[in-house]
Amino acid sequence: MLKASLRSHLTLWFAGLSLLTLLSVGFYVGHIATEQMKQASGNALLNTARSAASLLGEKLRERQLEVYLLSRAPHLERGDLDNPSILKSMQLRTQARAEYAWMGVTDAEGKVHQAVNDLLVGQSVQQRPWFQAGMRGEYTGDPHEAVLLAKKLPALPNGEPLRFIDFAAPIRNADGQVIGVLGAHAHWSWVTRIVESAAFSHKNSTPDIEALIIDHDGKVLYPEALMGQQLATGAKGQGWTAGNGFLTSVVNVPTPSSTALSWSIAVRQPLETALQPARLLMYKLLILGVVAAVLFGLVAYYLALYLSRPIEQLARSARQVQNQQPGAQFPLQHPVLEIAQLGQSIDAMTQSLLGKERELQEANASLEATVAQRTAALTQANAELLSLATHDSLTGVYNRRRFDEKLTEYTLLFRRTGRPFALLLIDADHFKRINDGHGHAVGDDVLQQLAQLIQSSLRTTDFVARYGGEEFAVLLPEIAKPDTPEVVAEKIRVAVAEAHFPVIGQVTVSIGVGLADPADNSHNALIKRADQQLYQAKAAGRNQVA
Ligand code: GH3
Ligand code: MG
Ligand code: MG
Repeated sequence: MLKASLRSHLTLWFAGLSLLTLLSVGFYVGHIATEQMKQASGNALLNTARSAASLLGEKLRERQLEVYLLSRAPHLERGDLDNPSILKSMQLRTQARAEYAWMGVTDAEGKVHQAVNDLLVGQSVQQRPWFQAGMRGEYTGDPHEAVLLAKKLPALPNGEPLRFIDFAAPIRNADGQVIGVLGAHAHWSWVTRIVESAAFSHKNSTPDIEALIIDHDGKVLYPEALMGQQLATGAKGQGWTAGNGFLTSVVNVPTPSSTALSWSIAVRQPLETALQPARLLMYKLLILGVVAAVLFGLVAYYLALYLSRPIEQLARSARQVQNQQPGAQFPLQHPVLEIAQLGQSIDAMTQSLLGKERELQEANASLEATVAQRTAALTQANAELLSLATHDSLTGVYNRRRFDEKLTEYTLLFRRTGRPFALLLIDADHFKRINDGHGHAVGDDVLQQLAQLIQSSLRTTDFVARYGGEEFAVLLPEIAKPDTPEVVAEKIRVAVAEAHFPVIGQVTVSIGVGLADPADNSHNALIKRADQQLYQAKAAGRNQVA
């Protein structure tokens, strides 16, 4: 498992969640705004279409009414189709209203009797739809290109073909019989201008707006560029539809029921334009979301730092304690209660563990001290034991056993090197008397003093042992001169004789000297020789060296 620090965890979660939240909000609000924008724009389009349709309807009705009223002139009713006052009225109309391109009166056979500017007078318009419809009743027709008048009227400045819409009304005599038709051609551009002006008055509030005039089959009549295209008119007059990249509103033009005309005005706006404010809002929200996520991430990072620092310190210190490194410090104070508690608990735990460890160490130390003490005692006991095995307990000099070993050693050495050594046997004179006269304890004291006197008369390399009872033996190694043993013996004898012994006063010793001889086949020979010499000294009156 990938392990990341608390810091990274918190930062990523905070930033991710805030980004997610703000993006969702951005998309949601963007969606709502788009829908509302559609609604608002659609309604605006609908209003525009309604006002354009009603304006156009009104204008068409006015023209239709004018033609109707002219057709009901009393002269015409009387059958006087050529009466000049009719022409006068028509001229006045066409002068007043520039949209009229032509106005004239025909008889029932379609022959033009009189017309404004005398255009088409005498010609037959029998084949023209307006005449045929006009014979039946009032008529307002779809636009068409000029047929008969094309050559007779000035061309349009933009080179477009002349297009008209026709108005017609039957002329009836007093009996109600149709005796002719009063017809008028109005410029199509007049119609389109009405629609444009109505639509364009909304152009500021609804940019890129486009107004279309559609005939009863759903075919586009205007603008020129879209002419003949089929337009799905959807729910006419109800509202608006979104499709083909446009938001479109279609409204029927209210025309007099007596005419066959059934136009609609479609007002449309590219969806792109209509929804742009909503899109902008959404983009702004999304950018805001990203910025907010970055900010949240930063805040989270610092918050995480604030939270994770003591925890990292905890982890670090715990590792130090684990590795028995010094300097472990736990955070005891922190505004976050749990962190402070954790720090305090781990600190207390560590202190108690360290205390236990110290106790254990102390116990160990005391155990080691005891072991050392016991070992020392044992060593001392061993030393004492060893000393006891080799020394005489009363006088402290070597004992008889050690003497025997030493003598054997000296004898072997002598045999190898040829360097002579000597043996002195020292015996206290009349010791029995001391014991008898002063007690055994005084005798012991005398023996101890004698041992010291002998020892201090010798070199450290010389060997002194208690040979038995009140007898001592001295081994003198590597004698330089043959008379050395006698000199040493004499020195001992004098030291004893001149010493003062408490209670008794004077004590003497007799000393027998024996020299190692290569001819000896055992060390007993040397002892025997020294013993004989001692006997000689005793015999010669004691307190002497033999
Ligand atoms: P001489 O001059 O002939 O050597 O006479 P002496 O009295 O010394 O005779 P001997 O050597 O026969 O006597 C030794 C006496 O030393 C006998 C014994 O009671 C005494 N003695 C031996 N060992 C000890 C001892 O450890 N302590 C005491 N106080 N007396 C001891
Ligand atoms: Mg003796
Ligand atoms: Mg003696």
